[in-house]
Amino acid sequence: MEGIDKTLVVRGNRIKVNRYGVMEGSNNIYVLGDLAAMTTPKWPNGHPQVASVAIQQADVVAQNLKRLERKLTTFYEFEYNDKGSMATVGRNKAVVDIPKPKIHMKGFFAWLIWMGLHLFLILGVKNRIMVFINWIVNYITYDQSLRLIFREFYRPKQKPEEVKKQVVSSGGPAANPSPAIVSSPPQQIDVLKEAADFKR
Ligand SMILES: Cc1cc2nc3c(=O)[nH]c(=O)nc-3n(C[C@H](O)[C@H](O)[C@H](O)COP(=O)(O)OP(=O)(O)OC[C@H]3O[C@@H](n4cnc5c(N)ncnc54)[C@H](O)[C@@H]3O)c2cc1C
Repeated sequence: MEGIDKTLVVRGNRIKVNRYGVMEGSNNIYVLGDLAAMTTPKWPNGHPQVASVAIQQADVVAQNLKRLERKLTTFYEFEYNDKGSMATVGRNKAVVDIPKPKIHMKGFFAWLIWMGLHLFLILGVKNRIMVFINWIVNYITYDQSLRLIFREFYRPKQKPEEVKKQVVSSGGPAANPSPAIVSSPPQQIDVLKEAADFKR
């Protein structure tokens, strides 16, 4: 990261900050959320990179900035309040983990809770109803609103000419243990070349 002391950049490209979200060695640079490497006794390896950490850190920093403006000298330290996590893993399936009281749920009931909470968190009644109707339509029609376009996938790092040379020079599969090369019939080399041309 340009302009940031390299010693402050730790695992996961995160920047070391103190409990107030201030970058180490500075007094007015704040780093929050996914980018912040903040260690606390409860989270010695840093916090999980999830939205609730980012939101709660932003809240603490906002309160501290207000205190700074009022020329107060005491500030709030960040302490993550882990309310649990949930994720949907397919149609009618979800997992829910609540730390206090310790509850773990999975399956259809967990999926209902996941939907209920997400609907509840959507701002505005109109938006909530629209999303709910959308979900019902998708549920009935099996329509996936997610549309992703991937570039053509090209696995080997070597240039096709090199791959060709190695296949020719290797005396069969036993002589060359690389699975990518062993399983390359001549027509596949043409495909690889096309893929390489596409990438260029
Ligand atoms: C696929 C996916 C699914 C996820 N699902 C969940 C989930 O279910 N639950 C959950 O809690 N968390 C989830 N997360 C994690 C969650 O999105 C992040 O933890 C959260 O968004 C972190 O917030 P942030 O403000 O730190 O960063 P971000 O939300 O990434 O915000 C950073 C912002 O800075 C902008 N930005 C970047 N560079 C610049 C620049 N040079 N100049 C100006 N702006 C810039 C970006 O465009 C972005 O808007 C998911 C993440 C991914 C990728």
